[in-house]
This record gives sequence, C-alpha cells and structure tokens, in this order.
Amino acid sequence: MSGDLAAFRERAARFLAGRLERRAPREDAAWGEGDDRISLFEEIDPEAERRTLDAARRWQRDLFDAGFGWIDGPAELGGAGLTAEHEAAFRGLLAGFESPDLRPLTVGLDIVAPAVLAHGDDELKRRVLPGLHRGELMACQLFSEPEAGSDLAAVRTAARRDGDAWVLNGHKVWTSGGHLADIGLALARTDPEASKHAGLTMFLVDMRDPGVRVEPIRQMTGGASFNEVFIGGARVPDRDRVGGPGEGWRVALTTLLGERSSLGGEGGGPLPAGFVPRLRQLVAVLPEADDPLVRRDAERALMSVDAMRLTAERYGEQERGGAGGGLNGVEGSVAKLLLVRALADTERLLTGLLGRGLVADDGSWGRFCWSEFVLGIPAFSIAGGTDDVQRNIVAERGLRLPKGAS
Ligand SMILES: Cc1cc2nc3c(=O)[nH]c(=O)nc-3n(C[C@H](O)[C@H](O)[C@H](O)COP(=O)(O)OP(=O)(O)OC[C@H]3O[C@@H](n4cnc5c(N)ncnc54)[C@H](O)[C@@H]3O)c2cc1C
Repeated sequence: MSGDLAAFRERAARFLAGRLERRAPREDAAWGEGDDRISLFEEIDPEAERRTLDAARRWQRDLFDAGFGWIDGPAELGGAGLTAEHEAAFRGLLAGFESPDLRPLTVGLDIVAPAVLAHGDDELKRRVLPGLHRGELMACQLFSEPEAGSDLAAVRTAARRDGDAWVLNGHKVWTSGGHLADIGLALARTDPEASKHAGLTMFLVDMRDPGVRVEPIRQMTGGASFNEVFIGGARVPDRDRVGGPGEGWRVALTTLLGERSSLGGEGGGPLPAGFVPRLRQLVAVLPEADDPLVRRDAERALMSVDAMRLTAERYGEQERGGAGGGLNGVEGSVAKLLLVRALADTERLLTGLLGRGLVADDGSWGRFCWSEFVLGIPAFSIAGGTDDVQRNIVAERGLRLPKGAS
C-alpha cells in the first residue's frame, strides 16, 4: 500500500464514506429527540452482547481486508506496513462517521496483540496476529487473581511442564470479556523456587479448553462484563507460550503499557462518541446550569477533558515524530490519571446539575440516562492499575523519588 499520506487519507475517506453514515454533530441534535442513553460500559443482555460482538468482528474483518485493520502492522504478518501517522490519520477520519462498536475487541487488539508481536516467536505471530487483527479471535487478559492485583507478580496460578504442553491450575478474577473470548493471555508461575518476578511465564490459553470454567461477576450497574475464571488442569501446548520460560514479567510489562495507553490514549480512550457535545448540550439546556457553582463545575469538567485529550495528542505526536516518549511508561500513567480526573470532574458536574434526577427516573429525557455513566466511573480508578499505582510509577520512574515501602 502506498505510504503517501495524502493519497492514503483520500483512499480511507472513500472507503469510510462508502460504508458508513456520517456522524451528525450532536450540537445540531434537538434536545429530547432520539435515544438518550450514554454509558462507559455497555450494559446489555447476553443476546445483544453477542450481536455487538458479531458486528465488531464483521467490521474489523472489513477493515483488515481493506488494509485499515492493522495499518502500522508489518506486511509479512498481514498488516498494511504503514506508520503510526497513517493510523492516527485513519482514526481522525473515522471519528466523523457512525461506526460499529469495536470495544469487545479492544483487549485483543490493544493489549494482547502488542505483547505477542513484541515477545512471541515467529510461528506464534503468524498463527495468532492476523486472526486477532481480523476480528476472528477475541481475547481476554488473565492476569489478576484474588491475591494478586496491584502486586501482580504475586500470581499463584501454576503451570507445570508435561511433555510438549503445560498444565495450568489456578483462579483468575476480573477477567473482562472472558465469557466471550476465544483465547486468554495468562500469567502463570512456572518456577516456584525462583524469585517472585523471575518464576513467571506467559501463555495463550484456549478459553474453550475443558479445564477452563468462566463465571460472571455482577456489577453495580447491573451488567456482568467481567468474570472469575477457574483453571483446573487446562492444557496449553508449548507453542502457545509467549516469550521464554521465566520471561513472563517482561511480557506482562508490555501488556500493561498497552493497557494504559489504550485507556488514556488519543481519541478519548473509553469516553463514548459525542460525549463532550452531550455535556455541553446539558449545560446549555437545563435551567439548573445557571447556578454559578454548577457553571464552575462545568468549566472544570470541560477543561479536564481538554487537558486529557491534548496531553494524549501531544504524546502521540512525540511518538510519531520519533522524539521518544509516546504513551509508554510514565506518560501512559499520566494520561490514565488525567482520564480519571476528567471523569471525577464530570461526576461532580453531573451530581450537582442533575441532583435527584440522577438516581430517580422521572421519565424526563436526558437526565436519568447519566446514572449508568456515573456508576461506571469508579472502575477507571482501578482497571489497568489503580491511581495509587500510577502515582507510584510517576513518582519513582518519572520524578526519581525514592521507592516507597511496598
Ligand atoms: C473495569 C475493570 C476491568 C478489569 N479487567 C481486568 C481484566 O480483563 N483482566 C485482569 O487480569 N484484571 C482486570 N481487572 C483487575 C484490575 O487489574 C485490578 O483490580 C487492579 O490491578 C487492582 O487490583 P486489586 O483489585 O487486587 O486491588 P489491590 O491491589 O488489592 O489494591 C487495594 C488498594 O490498595 C492500594 N495499593 C495496592 N498496592 C499499593 C501500593 N504499592 N502503593 C499504594 N497503594 C497501593 C490500591 O491502590 C487500592 O486502593 C479489571 C478491573 C476493573 C475495575
């Protein structure tokens, strides 16, 4: 595919216009018209969830087949062989269209695929990466355990070598999308004698293996998008090992960087499409917004969202310009903390502005719908590493402050 950016943009714009509807600017939508639903997590029944996943898989396949599914991926693995700048240009164009929700595939695309690309052997990369990027393989992340969250290297799930395979036994928790996933990236202890970080190895587990049992966890929002996963004697062929035996911690660090940059990244991370226009419309329309304290909170929330967006864009530009940085390491933690602050400021605005309307549905349009959004906010202070953990990273690796006692 041609690397000329202008020609690429033209081709991408033609592809998108041929398949998708243009997104109507939310400011133009009349208050009270259409679906007012807005959320950070889709809370839908299992059937609708399955339909969303199928639509995501079809759209990702179309993107991949047209050369837009893995724009900066190596051509020999099915990528388009272009640059991160092309990828960003495509994302910018896509934002102008109504497109199928790709969130069910995010863990596979943004977290698992980069780890396989960086650490898998050539055979594993050829076998798994095209499927992940074409939406044929949906992946989940089997890291956290009841006794290992922030202190991830404390995982107890054990993997024992048995001929040309490994046998896994353990208990994972908070596995997003585990009930739908085809494969799971699992961190396991392969050498109980080695030091905590050295005795770990990373595997790709077949989620349909008879030794894998997935149980949903019900959330306060009513949905059940994550799970407990009980692993009892699951067999994993050695060829599905990601990185060498004992190198699991190194692989885990790659995935954690991918996760943070996905959460705090360019394009608003997990914020739903049209979020800022919806917020502006709320403040413009509701009479309660004339209260000076609410106006102050509105300014603060909108500035926080802008700070998050601009910081992510700056890191992205630095990375694409080859100036180093990018959403890696400390920058990823800063970007994720800015996302959390933007969400906290939005929550303060919504509670002040909507008051009881946020907890009691009186049937009026555009008010109670925000309760699902607000209930999703606390999750982002925890997922992908808690705020405390991100601050530790900024303090120790960014500011070079002495290590805390942990
Ligand atoms: C929406 C969501 C989706 C998730 N999806 C997945 C998934 O798909 N796969 C997966 O493996 N996991 C997933 N998780 C789990 C997530 O990674 C963990 O919840 C997170 O790492 C925190 O671990 P923990 O819950 O065990 O809390 P703990 O580690 O027990 O932390 C408890 C408290 O202690 C604080 N704390 C801990 N250590 C330190 C320290 N050194 N310094 C200062 N404070 C500290 C924490 O900040 C926190 O406030 C998900 C979580 C959420 C909320």
